[in-house]
Amino acid sequence: MIDHTSRPVAIELSALTKRFGDMAAVDGVDLQIAEGEFFSMLGPSGSGKTTVLRLIAGFEQPTSGTVSLFGRDVTTVAPFDRDVNTVFQDYALFPHMSVLDNVAYGLRVRGMSRITRHARAREALDRVRLADFADRKPTQLSGGQRQRVALARATVVEPKALLLDEPLGALDLKLREQLQVELKELQRSLGITFIFVTHDQEEALTLSDRIAVFNNGRIEQLGTPAELYERPVSPFVASFVGTSNIFDDAVSLALLGRRGTHSLRPERIGLTVGDTADGITAPGTIAEVIYLGTNTRILVDLDAGQRITVLAPYGRERFSDHDRGARVTASWRDADVISLQSPTTPPTAPSEKTPIEMRS
Ligand code: ATP
Repeated sequence: MIDHTSRPVAIELSALTKRFGDMAAVDGVDLQIAEGEFFSMLGPSGSGKTTVLRLIAGFEQPTSGTVSLFGRDVTTVAPFDRDVNTVFQDYALFPHMSVLDNVAYGLRVRGMSRITRHARAREALDRVRLADFADRKPTQLSGGQRQRVALARATVVEPKALLLDEPLGALDLKLREQLQVELKELQRSLGITFIFVTHDQEEALTLSDRIAVFNNGRIEQLGTPAELYERPVSPFVASFVGTSNIFDDAVSLALLGRRGTHSLRPERIGLTVGDTADGITAPGTIAEVIYLGTNTRILVDLDAGQRITVLAPYGRERFSDHDRGARVTASWRDADVISLQSPTTPPTAPSEKTPIEMRS
C-alpha cells in the first residue's frame, strides 16, 4: 500500500463534466491520483467510470472542467500526445501480425530501429511471461494470453500511466484471479500509475491502493479498500462494496433505539438458537440457509420487520437447511453499526422482508 499524500500528483481532474445531450455522464468530478498509485474507478454500469477514463486518455473532450497529467493541462491535447496508454477489455490486437510485431508496433510508429524495438518487445513479453509466444498470431492464443500481449504492447512504450478499461472482464473467474495477481506485480515492478475501471467490487478491493466509487456520474466515496468497507458513507457504497444490512429510519429506531440510516456487515452478526445472546439482540426466524463452502449465508426475518443476512464462518455456528423456520436470536455490538448519510440512490428498492444487499 503506497501513501498517495507523499507523492507527486500524476493525474488531476477539476470540475470535470461530460454531457451527452441532456444527460451528464460525468458530473463535476474532482480527483487527484498520485504517481505510482494503483487506483480503481468502481461503479455499476452507466455510472460514468469509462467516460472518465476516456476523458483522461483524450478520446473524449469534456463539456467543461480540466484534465492535467503530470502537472500539464492536457484538456485539449490529442490522445497520442499524452503520457498515458490504454488497455481495453477486447485486447484490440492486430490479427495479421505476430505477437512480437503487435508488441513492437508502438515503437515502430515512434521510428525506432527494428533491432531495438524487437529487443524491447521481447523484454516486455518476458515481463508478462510470454517470451516463448513471440512468433504466434493472436488467434493462436488463449484469452488470458491475449490480454497479457495487450499489456506488453501498452507498457513497451513506457507510458507514465496506464489506463485499464475492464481488462479482465472477458476472462473466466480462475483466470481473472490469476491475472489480478500478475497485474498487481506488473504495476509494482513498473512503478507507474495504473487507473483501473471495473464494476467488480472484489477485484477493486483486491488490487487497489485507493478506489473511487462512482454513482450517477459522481464520486460517491473515495478511499482505501479498508476505508470503503469499514466506513462506507452511504447506503449505496455500503451495499455496492461488499454486502450490507441497511436499517432505515424506522428499523433503526426499533432495533438500535436511535433514528437515521445504519449499516451492519453480515459477518459482524452472531446467531444463536433460542433467546440468549450478548450485545444488542433481536429475535427472528431463519428464512434461508445457503451453504457457500467457506461459510454459510443465513437469511433471518427479524420480528422487527426486516430480513437480515448473516455470514457464519465454518466452525462457529453450524446451521443447515434443516434449520429453516427455527427461532433464533441475532446479536451484534453497537460499535459495529455504521451510521450512514441518508440514502441518495438506494441500489435496490427497500421494502419489508427484502434483503437489502447487492453484489456486482
Ligand atoms: P459500463 O460499466 O457499462 O461501461 P460506465 O460506468 O463505464 O458503464 P459510461 O460508459 O461512462 O458508464 O457511461 C455513462 C453514461 O453515459 C451512460 O448512461 C451511457 O449510456 C452514456 N454514454 C456514454 N458514452 C456515450 C455516447 N458516446 N453517447 C451518448 N451517451 C453516452
